[in-house]
Amino acid sequence: MAGIYIYSDKKDIVAELINFAKESEKEACVITFKQEDAEAIKDFGAEKIYVLKGSSQVPENYGKAVAELLKKQDADLFAVGATARGRDIAARTAGYLDCGMVSDVSSLSYREGTVISQRMMYGGTVIQSEELKGLCVVTVPAGKFEAAVGGETVEIITIDVEADSRVRLIETAPVLREGTDITAVDTVICVGQGLDKKEDLQLAQGLADVLGAEIGCTRGIAEERKWLPVERYIGISGAVIKPKLYISMGVSGQVQHVVGIRDSKVIVAVDLNEKAPIFRAADYGIVGNMYEIIPLLTEALKNA
Ligand SMILES: Cc1cc2nc3c(=O)[nH]c(=O)nc-3n(C[C@H](O)[C@H](O)[C@H](O)COP(=O)(O)OP(=O)(O)OC[C@H]3O[C@@H](n4cnc5c(N)ncnc54)[C@H](O)[C@@H]3O)c2cc1C
Repeated sequence: MAGIYIYSDKKDIVAELINFAKESEKEACVITFKQEDAEAIKDFGAEKIYVLKGSSQVPENYGKAVAELLKKQDADLFAVGATARGRDIAARTAGYLDCGMVSDVSSLSYREGTVISQRMMYGGTVIQSEELKGLCVVTVPAGKFEAAVGGETVEIITIDVEADSRVRLIETAPVLREGTDITAVDTVICVGQGLDKKEDLQLAQGLADVLGAEIGCTRGIAEERKWLPVERYIGISGAVIKPKLYISMGVSGQVQHVVGIRDSKVIVAVDLNEKAPIFRAADYGIVGNMYEIIPLLTEALKNA
């Protein structure tokens, strides 16, 4: 069956890509590798769910099987969630299909057999627009589309397939993260390298306590100074956040950082340098010394 074929190891992205297929007026066909994954998404409104059943526990090993299914079904497009696993499967499948692939699109639409996409290049300084015709593969980060809101129970089709046996699963271990996930909070106070010393993080913490916020940072604060865990840094190579409120202090706002904050609802920036690029991204800007402004702001909010 033609249509937009979808894979993601994240349920939320599956729901978003189903909606993308529907907006594109195409049937949404989801691929999974486990029966329980199919059951978990069966009410998301896809037309079909294919369970590719084989002997491997590693989803990436099904690249060839996915490619064969897409060819057999005359698929229009393979849209894959841009997670570590998704990118791997996408690349392998595109390789087996010998077709075009666009990674980590920032925008995506599908019209009359053509995929129209944009993606950032060179650390976010350039936007590349691409059009691909015929069956191709795209990887799509979370949050690019509204999630599909339910639908009828779909047909679940199980197909026995052969898996590549060259990669074997040896063991699994949980990723240990420190503190809250800053991609999931409403308010973020972001500290940059304008901060003089580690103890001054207290300044940010004071404001964060009043607002019920979490602290994020720029890359240098985590990677070079090691004042905060790497999960806390925001930007093209760090976390991409979408809080209701983002307040920066001593962040210059280089493009690699701004890429990670631009979907914030309200951006407030405090910086000494009136020409700092952060002010171009900000809804509200305060030019001044954060060591004076942040305590005043904290106090005012405490009494608000
Ligand atoms: C390939 C690549 C990927 C990258 N990925 C990321 C990424 O994901 N995330 C990221 O953050 N960076 C990333 N970077 C780094 C990025 O280019 C910037 O270097 C970095 O974001 C700058 O961090 P900053 O704003 O904290 O520091 P700076 O650029 O040094 O800015 C410090 C700011 O503090 C201000 N300031 C100083 N004192 C005060 C004061 N007392 N009160 C108020 N303001 C003050 C200054 O005016 C200045 O604007 C990447 C770079 C490359 C090349």
